[in-house]
Amino acid sequence: MRKHIVAANWKMNKTFQEGMALIEDVYKTLDGYKPNCEVLICPPSYFLGAIDKKYCDKLTFGAQDCSEHTSGAYTGEISAPMIASTVAKAVIIGHSERRAYHNEGSEMLAKKVDQALEAGLRPVFCVGEKLDQREDGTYMEVVAKQVKDALFHLSDKDFAKIILAYEPVWAIGTGKTASADQAQEMHANIRKVVAEKYGQEIADNCTILYGGSCKGENAPELFAKPDVDGGLIGGASLEASKFLPIIKAFD
Ligand code: PGA
Repeated sequence: MRKHIVAANWKMNKTFQEGMALIEDVYKTLDGYKPNCEVLICPPSYFLGAIDKKYCDKLTFGAQDCSEHTSGAYTGEISAPMIASTVAKAVIIGHSERRAYHNEGSEMLAKKVDQALEAGLRPVFCVGEKLDQREDGTYMEVVAKQVKDALFHLSDKDFAKIILAYEPVWAIGTGKTASADQAQEMHANIRKVVAEKYGQEIADNCTILYGGSCKGENAPELFAKPDVDGGLIGGASLEASKFLPIIKAFD
């Protein structure tokens, strides 16, 4: 059975003290409880070097982005090997906010995916259509193309390490969630596209997360869908009390 994951994307939130306290809070809420999913926390990268390994028995950690370069004169950038030298085991790549505000397209994202894999990190690769693409009916093709263009150069072995996250742009931070049926329709199609290239077994083992205003109230219905394998959570991951019900949606 493929892995279920509930991932927190903190984005650019939390001071160092607040973030460390939140990690402790999430950890404590899991005390005496064994989640039926992996719990992945992606804080701003500067936290990663300071996170105590003791948390890694219940939590895994990741970054929100990495450079497409390995090292060198790239002021402000953080490379995949740097991330991999901390507790981090994963990295979000291609989030729609990076695509929109930092002009990241498939060519660059393919390089970032290569960097992450080379450094031994699992990429959490984000795809998703904009509102006009949902409305004009091109959303399936748009998302399939995002998957193909940035990932289909990978070998079977490397593709098997990819976690996908479907995040319709119109649902991110808007309070508008895709319905469970809309998510299922897209996830099933993504899996079909993956199967056509990599075969049914790799497609069946590929974890596909849903993201976009996912919260405690809607997570059980979303996660009950056969092709929805967990969530990538923004707003509702910033407080342990809001994040825990999403983790528990897999119980
Ligand atoms: P949201 O963000 O849960 O606040 O909508 C999800 C994301 O962008 O990863």
